[in-house]
Amino acid sequence: MKSSNVVWHTATITRDHREKQSGHRSVILWFTGLSGAGKSTLAHAVEEHLFQRHCRTFTIDGDNVRHGLCADLGFSSDDRVENIRRVGELAKLFTEAGVLVLTAFISPFQADRDRVRALVPDGEFIEVYCQASLDICEGRDVKGLYKKARSGEIAHFTGISSPYEPPTSPELTVNTGEATIEACVAQVIQYLEAQGII
Ligand code: ADP
Repeated sequence: MKSSNVVWHTATITRDHREKQSGHRSVILWFTGLSGAGKSTLAHAVEEHLFQRHCRTFTIDGDNVRHGLCADLGFSSDDRVENIRRVGELAKLFTEAGVLVLTAFISPFQADRDRVRALVPDGEFIEVYCQASLDICEGRDVKGLYKKARSGEIAHFTGISSPYEPPTSPELTVNTGEATIEACVAQVIQYLEAQGII
């Protein structure tokens, strides 16, 4: 830590108070998968469902943080690690604020995801593997990025010229490649209910 004169201030309104007021627990739903697998679509669809149920939610989207909080970062290995570290710390702050946080990042490396997992108590990091084959993702090519990656216009593109490490033991695997969005949403909601989170 760079600043040695910083003293931690203990809040009088605790996370417990906030969770009671929210009427649900606060956890991180960490959506991971290839570009185009459906992380953003599913995260926002789950958030809509939770919002209808009066849950306090917030979705942190990969592309959006790169405009602000992580605008100084690129896609080198070090920058990807730092990007996920910052997002993890941000997500943790939201859980302390009593919010159900949903994040949509490719987050291709298990070690980076495990580092975020280690930031919060057991059971509060829910790794949701959005499983869709490279063929399907490339066929969708939602943002035209695969085409650019294939032509060499984009270097270090996950799935093409940079690896993706599927989660080794995710809390949830959703078949975003073949199932309907509704079915995937239902699967996530069922999990949250079964765990007593909502
Ligand atoms: P990512 O955030 O992983 O890059 P996006 O959510 O931007 O992916 O794009 C995924 C695309 O796949 C969208 O066009 C979405 O409508 C489509 N899609 C089809 N089935 C599903 C599903 N079950 N879950 C999520 N997205 C799906």
